[in-house]
Amino acid sequence: MICTGCGCLCDDLDLTVAEGQLLEVANVCLWGLSRFFPCKRSHPRKERRRILKPLARLNGRPREVSYETALEQAAEILGAARRPLLYGLTNTGSRAQEAALHLARKLRARLEPADLAFTAPYYHSLRKHGLYWAPLEVIRDEADTVLFWGANPLHSCPRHPVRYSVFARGRFTERGVEDRRVAAVDLYRTEVAKFCHLFVQVEPGRELQLLSGIREHLEGAPGPGPAVKGTRKLAGFLSQGDFGVIFFGRGATYNQGFALLDELAGLAARLGEERPFVLFPLSADFNAAGLYQLLFNELGSPEAPDFGHESGLLTTYATADWGEFDAVLVVGADPWWFLPEEQALALQARRVPVVSLSPYANRTTASARVVFPTALAGLEAAEVAYRMDGLPVVLKQVLPAAWPTDREILLDLAKAI
Ligand code: SF4
Repeated sequence: MICTGCGCLCDDLDLTVAEGQLLEVANVCLWGLSRFFPCKRSHPRKERRRILKPLARLNGRPREVSYETALEQAAEILGAARRPLLYGLTNTGSRAQEAALHLARKLRARLEPADLAFTAPYYHSLRKHGLYWAPLEVIRDEADTVLFWGANPLHSCPRHPVRYSVFARGRFTERGVEDRRVAAVDLYRTEVAKFCHLFVQVEPGRELQLLSGIREHLEGAPGPGPAVKGTRKLAGFLSQGDFGVIFFGRGATYNQGFALLDELAGLAARLGEERPFVLFPLSADFNAAGLYQLLFNELGSPEAPDFGHESGLLTTYATADWGEFDAVLVVGADPWWFLPEEQALALQARRVPVVSLSPYANRTTASARVVFPTALAGLEAAEVAYRMDGLPVVLKQVLPAAWPTDREILLDLAKAI
């Protein structure tokens, strides 16, 4: 059974099901547990509230309504919008993503992947530098030099170190961590420091300087000024080994996202001249790779498509300015969790209606005009997803579903508008 807790899509889970009830899940991490049982990530004893019925606001208060009423209201909101935004989709199956792209086209909307700020700089640099690529199994078998940059796999993909990157025993890394050298760079000392041979804590804003210092050391021409602490050690670390990989996380995109990813990609390309060297995003959303694959296949570009542009279609790496939209459809995401408060308040002040598709109650559903409860992909609904390295996997339905799937709702919306 496959877990949809993160982009690893671990396929070695054992489920115990009796009379349509899930009793037990084995081999799963705490993050994954929250995909199977209604509990919070990392807090298995704290419950999450499942949304049981479609909700619509009447006189400002959310009321349970029939599916048809919710559909009618959502279609009215989205159909009347001049500048709609379709947001999220990285935690949604590929079939639902296809339906969402169809709907975005029909609405002449902008479609924004939830992790665009994290992934866009990566694809941008990938295009520019043309990097070496390898699936996770090859990395597990061959990578002997592993660097985590602004990434804490224990908080984004908890079993990644055990299955692929640190402790995993591969064909040429039979002794696991003893056959690998592992390092990490981060703004704060994180738990990964416990298993890293080298941990470099860099001051915020000095990451670019650290990267250019490493490049200079690799070229054998270190600059005259004082180097960022750890530069020489990291250059020495990266220049050894037969197969290397840099896993970067969201920490790499907080400051100077595009410039930093460009430098990281340049470094990976430079190291790749002598040995295979991979740059790899650690994706916490289970089907982010599927969404970019779809965009690339359908539109020829892994960027956010805007069907409302005067040219008919504009694709862009830049994240959206929420101030320009007059209706928002959120699928499988909770943007109200991280949206800057002033932006959320501005949306509220302009009374921008939000339609949300979500299995669980969250901040976004709390302020949405219409809410559709959905079946969980890979547990209550069959779907397709792409692992973080692009491997497609089929997700099976194992429990009866009391709610429609994301795909069904999106297709019904497209029909109703
Ligand atoms: S690492 Fe990710 S896919 Fe694997 S069990 Fe944990 S949450 Fe699920």
